[in-house]
Amino acid sequence: MNKKVRTSKFNICLPVGDQSGHWVIFNGANGAYALVNDSLGQLLDTADKNDRILPPMDEKTYHFLMQRGFLDYEGQEIERVTGICKKIHDCNCQNIIMSIVPTLACNFDCEYCFERVIRKEHPERLKAYMSRDMVDAIFRQMERFVAEGKSIKNFVFFGGEPFLPRNKEIVSYACDKCDKQQIPMSVITNGYYLDEYLDIISKYNFTAVKITIDGPKEVHDARRKPSGKNGSFDRIVENALRALETGKTVTFRTNVNRENSHVIPQMAAEYERLGLTQYPNFAYYFCATMDSFEREDNVFSNVSVMGQIGNCCSNYCYNSAYARIYRRLKPLMTEKKFMELRSEFCVAHSGKYTVDPFGNVYTCWDLMHKEEAIVAKVDVEKGEFIYNENFSTWNQRTVDKIKKCKNCKYMMFCGGGCAAQAIESKKDIYEAYCDSFPEIFNQVAVQIAREYLDK
Ligand code: SF4
Ligand code: SF4
Repeated sequence: MNKKVRTSKFNICLPVGDQSGHWVIFNGANGAYALVNDSLGQLLDTADKNDRILPPMDEKTYHFLMQRGFLDYEGQEIERVTGICKKIHDCNCQNIIMSIVPTLACNFDCEYCFERVIRKEHPERLKAYMSRDMVDAIFRQMERFVAEGKSIKNFVFFGGEPFLPRNKEIVSYACDKCDKQQIPMSVITNGYYLDEYLDIISKYNFTAVKITIDGPKEVHDARRKPSGKNGSFDRIVENALRALETGKTVTFRTNVNRENSHVIPQMAAEYERLGLTQYPNFAYYFCATMDSFEREDNVFSNVSVMGQIGNCCSNYCYNSAYARIYRRLKPLMTEKKFMELRSEFCVAHSGKYTVDPFGNVYTCWDLMHKEEAIVAKVDVEKGEFIYNENFSTWNQRTVDKIKKCKNCKYMMFCGGGCAAQAIESKKDIYEAYCDSFPEIFNQVAVQIAREYLDK
């Protein structure tokens, strides 16, 4: 055995806690995975705590670990990870998600939304609506992307509230254009005026209709009120049922903070009572609100969300933070498939663009209240994006460039965390934002291993 070999600094060793003492081991730099016996699990775990000095082992075990990258020869793995990261990032940048904000205005006034900041600081911005010229220019830029060999994966309507009655003409105009180019569409809406858009979602290739519901009627209505009106719950549910009848996928997302966290255990039964779950095209999940838009005493983490769900469901698939990891880990652990590695945390660092009615282009759509998040301007005449210096800051935030992440065992599973949260909470986009990723990963991995061994 070679003395220059150590165990990898990216090894994650987790005891499954079953009777036969299995461990699951992962490598957070190359995505390797193995289910191993107690002695090998302990061996690697002990080495990890002992400066990664290679413990004595037989040839067969040595080759098994070396082949899968659980061992590191002379610290070469950092260079290798940087190379992998670049390749994945280059590939990801080929996939474009374009979204437009027909208006920044919304008929709701939710306490955790960035729209509130705009309403307070720049109310005049809420009066603007996207023009046809702007939509044309965006599509010309999309043609440029395609000419560069990129592929437009989805076209998203976002807001403000994209499906306000007054936006219908511009939304149909954009839908027609997508349709001609066979680009799938989706919408993030509060659902209040969805009835007025049923013809549109039926006619065009809408792959997702995402609606926010904050709890059962009394809770939702207290939190998500259309200005000047009573609650919105009944109307949204009615609209969702009609949308489900069209066969489109409708997903309810519940934004959770401390104030409404108690609703989580009630929602499965509530959706069943409302007749939503009888549709196979209905889905729902829970997600903690962004801490940075919350009062400190109202923050509720995704780990706590998961704890609540775990108390009431036999599996955790409805929680977004959990589900994202679960969906990626399950094929790796049970079907011997490769896991998708992440060079960046989200598409805001590869191919996502969101354009507001003024032609400001953002890669992160949760920061449309911040001038510093503008990465380009649409040149309506030329039909192209004119990028500014912020673009490379956003586009180059890959996990290998974040100091803390470079030494993190979970780096290529995680991707460095949400940049918007890093900016809001740490004032630096190149800071890590862990958001309990390691804890959630560990819980999910052990859960899947137990399910697998129980079969
Ligand atoms: S940076 Fe964060 S808030 Fe922005 S799009 Fe990505 S995950 Fe969402
Ligand atoms: S954000 Fe945190 S958990 Fe994720 S890779 Fe960076 S240091 Fe690790």
